[in-house]
Amino acid sequence: MGMLYWRADMDKFLKELARHWPLAKGSLAEVRKPCNRPNCRACRSGQKHPAFIFGFREHGRQRCMYVPRELVPALKRVIQNGRWMEQELSGMGRLLIEAYRRNRQKTGEDR
Ligand SMILES: [Zn+2]
Repeated sequence: MGMLYWRADMDKFLKELARHWPLAKGSLAEVRKPCNRPNCRACRSGQKHPAFIFGFREHGRQRCMYVPRELVPALKRVIQNGRWMEQELSGMGRLLIEAYRRNRQKTGEDR
């Protein structure tokens, strides 16, 4: 498959990728977790403490990690960037086939 016409798309994609860096696939959820202080009022009342967890898949397994509070805004952007990437990947097969067809018409080749 001729790749010359595909090259321009790659340059464009790499520029976009750099703009969306860093990126990750996963989700962020707010939960309540208990602490280990004895006689904590928030824990005794059942309120506990707000915390964030990052859920993701690793080797097909669902995993999660607590996220430091100050990292939450940055991680939200990182997850959004990951969604951008998924959209890109979904459309790439179509782009490849369309570019191939355009090139074939231009060169007048027959299948
Ligand atoms: Zn507590």
